[in-house]
Amino acid sequence: MAKPYNAVLFDLDDTLIDFERSQEISLRKCYAKYFHHLVSWEAFRTHYGSINRSLWNLAEEGTIRTSTIADLRFQQIADLYRIPFIPEIVQFYEDQLILNSHWIEGAEEVLETLKRRSIPVAFITNGFTHMQRNKQKKLRLSRYSQIMVVSDECGVAKPHPLIFQTALDLLKSSASSTLMVGDSLTSDGQGAKNLNMPFCWFNPRRLPNPHDWEPDLVIHALKDCLSIF
Ligand SMILES: [Mg+2]
Repeated sequence: MAKPYNAVLFDLDDTLIDFERSQEISLRKCYAKYFHHLVSWEAFRTHYGSINRSLWNLAEEGTIRTSTIADLRFQQIADLYRIPFIPEIVQFYEDQLILNSHWIEGAEEVLETLKRRSIPVAFITNGFTHMQRNKQKKLRLSRYSQIMVVSDECGVAKPHPLIFQTALDLLKSSASSTLMVGDSLTSDGQGAKNLNMPFCWFNPRRLPNPHDWEPDLVIHALKDCLSIF
């Protein structure tokens, strides 16, 4: 299993950053401020989740740009509840996401260790530029790498090869000697596979793999990826 990698590409949300937690807190605040009189919390959360997931699927397929999702998801929620769309909700929700962004357990330790071992890292993320750049600032990601490629800036989302190749070029590393670490089989895993890049699946919830291909490595705790460096 021991294979030397010259560099590491990390996904951000739900790999290094606990997006699920910040989303839960931010959605609850959004619900309490704008939607509590319309539906139950459970219903709102389900509606948001399915609308958001469908829009992200379209972005990953290349059908829509990621930059349109922030407005579209709340427009679709407003349509569903037959209320006018209020643009300030988008800003409020995004502000909360930044305020409530935290590391995944072990993430800082992994990045510190890789830095000590002089292994260059880069971040690639499907997200909105302003959001991801604000998270970069809040968590001071530049301590570990100046390289962060955001789908919004690239014009395409993972798994499109361009976003991976852009990061590899900036790292000056080849695909075969760079490890991709991410929680998503469809965006991180498929993207790495397209370029013949080794893929480490961060799967803390031990989800089944529905695909007909296997990741090169599966870890349940982030720090377990250190054993191969
Ligand atoms: Mg992710």
